[in-house]
Formats: sequence, C-alpha cells, structure tokens
Amino acid sequence: MVFDFKGKTAVVTGASRGIGEATSRHLDAGGANVVLVARSKDKLNAIASELQNESLVIDCDLSEDRTIDLIKSKTIEKFSKIDILVNNAAVERNEPAHRATAAAIDETLLVNLRQAFMLCSVFSKDLFATKGNVVNVTSTAAAGAGGTQGAYAASKGGLNTLTKNLSNEWANKEVRANAVAPGLVLTEMWEPTFELLGEENVMENFVKRVPLGKWGTPEEIANVICFLASDLASYVTGQVVRVDGGMLNL
Ligand code: NAP
Repeated sequence: MVFDFKGKTAVVTGASRGIGEATSRHLDAGGANVVLVARSKDKLNAIASELQNESLVIDCDLSEDRTIDLIKSKTIEKFSKIDILVNNAAVERNEPAHRATAAAIDETLLVNLRQAFMLCSVFSKDLFATKGNVVNVTSTAAAGAGGTQGAYAASKGGLNTLTKNLSNEWANKEVRANAVAPGLVLTEMWEPTFELLGEENVMENFVKRVPLGKWGTPEEIANVICFLASDLASYVTGQVVRVDGGMLNL
C-alpha cells in the first residue's frame, strides 16, 4: 500500500536493513524525503541510490552521545524540518540473566531506549512546528514471555511506556506518538539465534506460537509503521500496535 507522504521529511533509524529499510522504502514510495540512519554507510548509500525522492544518509553509531545532535543538525540543515521520526534501530542480545554484564545491559538500554528518547527530545520543537509524529518500534518481547532477553525486553517495555507518556505530553501540540510491536519477522536480527539453535529448528518451531502460522516480513511491519505515521492515523495516539500474527493473543 502506498501512503501519501508528499512534502514530508522522515528520519528512520536502523535504515540499513530489515524493518528500517522496508519502512524507508515505503515512506519514499509515498513521496517523503527520508533521512537514513545506521552505521553501515555502504548499505545506506545503496538504498539511497534506489529511492525516488531526495534523501540523506547519516552513517553514525547511536551508542555514541554526539550522534544525537549530528542527526538533528544534518536533518534540519538539509530539509529544514522533520515531520516523522521512526525510532527503529535496536540491538538484541539473547543471554540469560545470570550471565548479563553491566556493559551489555548499558548498550542495549542506550541504543534501544535512551537514544530513542533523546531523538524525540532534540526534535521536539521541530515536531511541534510541523504537528508531526513519532513511531517507535518496540517488540512483543516487552511482554517478557520470551525469557533470556532481559535487557532487550526491558528496553522495549520502556519504549512502550515512553510512547504513551509522549502521546499525553505532546497531545496539546498535536504531535502523535505510537509504537509498533513486531513479533517474529525474518531479518538479520535472527542470525545469532539461528547460529545458536539451528535455522531450520527456529524457523519451524518458533512459528508454532503464531496463530497465523507464518513469519512476518519487514514489509508487513513497515505497512503498519507507515499507517501510524500517515494522516490516515490522525486520531490515533499513545497506542502500541502488535504486528505479530496473533502470537500474543495466545
Ligand atoms: P536488524 O535487521 O538487525 O536491523 C537493525 C538495524 O538497527 C540495522 O539497520 C542496524 O544498522 C541498526 N543499528 C543497530 N545498532 C545500531 C547502532 N549502534 N547505531 C546505529 N544503528 C544501529 O533488525 P530488524 O529485525 O529490522 O529490527 C528492527 C526493529 O524491529 C528493532 O527495533 C527490533 O527490536 C524490532 N523487532 C524486530 C523483530 C524481528 O523479529 N526481526 C521482532 C520484534 C521487534 P547497522 O548495523 O548498519 O548500524
């Protein structure tokens, strides 16, 4: 589905692959100027070269503090405004709580939660000016049912709560904030799990928890992100929309 994003500027973190790449392509197809943020410069440039509208590549590491101001200044310098912020970048570690290290917990909370919050904060006045909106990409892992994902699950639970808080705090500015919580989506994020447990085993067995009986695609998540980011969702704010084939209904 193609949404109407003509004249909009959208910042997408984690745009170099997976859900962020699909979201960037959908936003572009709808007419948006997309700011593509991630560490992999070559991948970002390759995606940018295929987009139809003017775009901006910002290759940077979200675990570094200076990155936040860099994203803000380069975006405003190039496009003078922001209408849509998609906080999608994340790191995921599968490790039992008894083996968790402070460094690993810090990195997960930093990239997945603190920097998403900081981007909302530094872009706040620009979003007020355009009556823009934020879509945070969280996870069904926030429910805590997966196990061995303590820091990741906590970061996503925190991002869900932040989303609701922002939706209330910014409602009088007509800035909406929503979250999309994917379930099982086939992306590179699964590679460490495939290595650990075997790809065939994971593909066949994990999907037994999904009533729709299949893995999701990045495009299926991007569709919902784009709906929430679009004017079609003008009366939707503070929501966490699960896109999980019904997994958490069980
Ligand atoms: P992915 O393929 O691993 O992509 C993650 C993206 O985040 C990449 O573009 C990566 O780019 C970027 N990123 C990671 N660390 C970064 C850092 N320090 N600085 C800048 N960029 C960074 O994962 P995905 O599956 O598309 O996940 C996208 C979102 O969906 C994440 O928030 C994830 O938690 C959520 N989600 C995914 C699933 C799933 O089943 N796949 C399920 C639930 C939720 P570089 O490596 O180029 O920096």
